[in-house]
Amino acid sequence: MRSRLIGLAGCTKTSCIDFPGTVSTVLFFAGCNLRCPYCHNPHVLESGGELGGASEGVWRFLEKRRSLIDGVVLSGGEPTINPHLEKFATEIASLGYRIKLDTNGLTPEMIERVAPDYLALDVKTDPARYSTHLGASCSDIEAKLRRSVAIARAMGDRAEVRITVAPGIVDRAAVLVLGDMLKGIKTVFLQPMSRRARLLDPAFGNVPAVPDAEIRHYRDLLGGSVGKCIIRGEPVDASVHYASEREAKAA
Ligand code: SF4
Repeated sequence: MRSRLIGLAGCTKTSCIDFPGTVSTVLFFAGCNLRCPYCHNPHVLESGGELGGASEGVWRFLEKRRSLIDGVVLSGGEPTINPHLEKFATEIASLGYRIKLDTNGLTPEMIERVAPDYLALDVKTDPARYSTHLGASCSDIEAKLRRSVAIARAMGDRAEVRITVAPGIVDRAAVLVLGDMLKGIKTVFLQPMSRRARLLDPAFGNVPAVPDAEIRHYRDLLGGSVGKCIIRGEPVDASVHYASEREAKAA
């Protein structure tokens, strides 16, 4: 008898872009402990119950597709605030799937309990801005983020840090703080804020974007501290990243 996937808000059955080098299924869990104005998943922010009794269908799919799909991405919302996440991850892994976790890093103890095969850690800005700019209400934000960054650092090529370059939230001062905090991380992605979807704060979509040249400057500032810093959407030598993924899989 499989667990009910309490908090499941949605599922992408097959994805080739969410788990580097891996065909995956993506599970979206409801609820989040932040309120980023640029969030393009506002419908999953409020925690809810299992989506329309979808658990059975998801489990049936995962059991049937083991030979075609290699990984499952636990995403959201913010999946680590779901108290059942470790149990879900263990059950999914027992079917032979590799686990990737997408997280904002504010619940490091759950990252440790899930112990994913691959970690995508969103670090948003200078920790001092989380309350004022991102609606964080928890305490010890910097300590929590540093603990999550340490996990990512220890995972080496099996982890990436992502920074969404949102106007007024990420600027040169914040990037300098992040450069110090992210020292030793192997891969950092700078991702320009997407305006294609409806944002949590629709007015935020009208704020002028951070210019490309400025984002390249952030890359240069971070480049000295981390293994590689890549601007999403710019051509890169992807073979470096995916070779490491294959090595990790073979290990
Ligand atoms: S962008 Fe991510 S961390 Fe921010 S509110 Fe949306 S789901 Fe939460």
